[in-house]
Amino acid sequence: MSEALFKLAPPPANANGRFAPSPTGRLHIGNLRTALVAWCCARSQGADFSLRIEDLDSERKRDGAAEQQLQDLAALGIDWDRPVVYQSERTSSYLAAIEVLRKHDLLYECWCTRAEIREAASAPSGTPVVYPGTCRDLPRAELQARRASSRAPALRVRAAEQKVRFFDRVRGDCAGVVDDFVVARQDGTAAYHLAVVIDDAQLGVGEVVRGDDLLESTPAQVWLAGQLELAVPTYAHIPLMRDDAGKPLSKKDGSLTLAGQAANGLDPDRVRSDLAASLGVCELGEPIDIDQLALRFATTLVD
Ligand code: GLU
Repeated sequence: MSEALFKLAPPPANANGRFAPSPTGRLHIGNLRTALVAWCCARSQGADFSLRIEDLDSERKRDGAAEQQLQDLAALGIDWDRPVVYQSERTSSYLAAIEVLRKHDLLYECWCTRAEIREAASAPSGTPVVYPGTCRDLPRAELQARRASSRAPALRVRAAEQKVRFFDRVRGDCAGVVDDFVVARQDGTAAYHLAVVIDDAQLGVGEVVRGDDLLESTPAQVWLAGQLELAVPTYAHIPLMRDDAGKPLSKKDGSLTLAGQAANGLDPDRVRSDLAASLGVCELGEPIDIDQLALRFATTLVD
């Protein structure tokens, strides 16, 4: 058997899990592998598993993508316990959380455009930026002038670059600095960090298993859960699947979907087996059903 792709520290007491795709296109096999790992983490502990469609970004979402994603997950044998949660239907929960933050004086209005933030932070395009605090403490007259202008503000939190620590089952002890991130966009919709934190808490999620591209989002989410007095889940950020050039797979590469694999003669059972083999859980080409996968996963990848 090939080597384990990663090892996980022992599971948390609350192993209720979730998979939360954005409906921006068909899931690629890297997304499917992450979903399988998340499912195995929960099910190997006899815990609940939920699916949540993160459809708040109306510009990026694609018609029919969510339904297709659910079909592909089910074809691999992944199941879930409650009706699928759609973030677009959860506005009132997000607005309630924004009110709590407002009451704690943790919010401020921000009129900066992305280009202005980049310029103020002297960050070249494409690199992550820390919000430089431009709108954090605007003088009253300036604030009134901005409020009178036609453009609506986004809402940012006063996190003031605090350092946050958290435990990750793959990476161990982690820490990161939290900048003043956006919790409500200019159009009033909840921003990613806020929606994720509220949803995970309200779904009773004890463990967040997701791709390690989201590791850097975690300090903000841990901080926000703390401010809202919500339980902080355990995290497991797992390696993304990469192409031959070392680049993480993208949903734009259509051939690496379940449909693309089917066109190459690989049915969902074979794809599950290939993904399990890539994790180091079975031999290449060895048939493995979803329940065997959860058992083998627990004995080979979990310390
Ligand atoms: N919706 C995010 C994505 O598709 C995942 C968010 C999360 O798992 O916290 O990348």
